[in-house]
Amino acid sequence: MLGYLIDMDGVLYHGHQLIPGAQRFIHELLAADVPFLFLTNNSQRTRRDVATKLGRMGIDGIEERHVFTCAMATARYLAQQKPNGTAYVIGEGGLLTALHSNGFAIVDRDPDYVVVGEGRTLTFEMMETALGMIRNGSRLIATNLDPNCPTPTGMRPGCGALVALLEAASGIKAFSVGKPSPIMMRGARKELGLSAEQTIMIGDTMETDIVGGVQLGYHTALVLTGSTKRSDLGRYAYQPDLIFDSINDISHEMLVDEFGSSDSELDEEGDRRLLAVN
Ligand SMILES: [Mg+2]
Repeated sequence: MLGYLIDMDGVLYHGHQLIPGAQRFIHELLAADVPFLFLTNNSQRTRRDVATKLGRMGIDGIEERHVFTCAMATARYLAQQKPNGTAYVIGEGGLLTALHSNGFAIVDRDPDYVVVGEGRTLTFEMMETALGMIRNGSRLIATNLDPNCPTPTGMRPGCGALVALLEAASGIKAFSVGKPSPIMMRGARKELGLSAEQTIMIGDTMETDIVGGVQLGYHTALVLTGSTKRSDLGRYAYQPDLIFDSINDISHEMLVDEFGSSDSELDEEGDRRLLAVN
């Protein structure tokens, strides 16, 4: 058994433009009942929003259970750390919904956490409020540290850039939960019920998708339709297992040949590993 964690932006689409082959590959996984999750560091949308967006772009058959966002990872993590906690949020629907559904209350004074995600509703007053809270002891949490996000016309500042402003002003470092944090990378794998050896991460960004997969012992496949060029690869100390020009060049069958083996072989390997540990 093999399964996939699949980044979206730069892998499946740019903006609202589907990348050729994305639809075919995802339908291949759905038809063969292969477990997969879309793994995104965009905290703006809820699971349902993401499934709807993909459906409108022509990837039908996607359900909420196929989507895992950094907003969900952040909310689940905070609910474990501080059940029924409180948060001041710089972010949008996806993050607010995730926090609410994990038992958090959104407040505008004395929060346990200041949580920063993506959003277009940012004002200087919100940053000032957040800074005061952090200086009073609220913990600074980032849904992710991506410095920027691609847009159809270029790029916009990402969550990491907003967080950097608060870090510089407060002198306090944020704790980040999204890719490549093991909290999100491992949480997604466990959601699929797979072992590390059974998990393949497909992404376009070395600093999040690929390093996250490498650190957790997943198989990794880089596509060159997003933020990474082939000529960039030399400067990284970690490399993906496979490199593809685009998702158009990937098929499940090919990756099973490359990484997979029958369930029994994987089970045996798992057993051997357990024996070695014991
Ligand atoms: Mg991406």
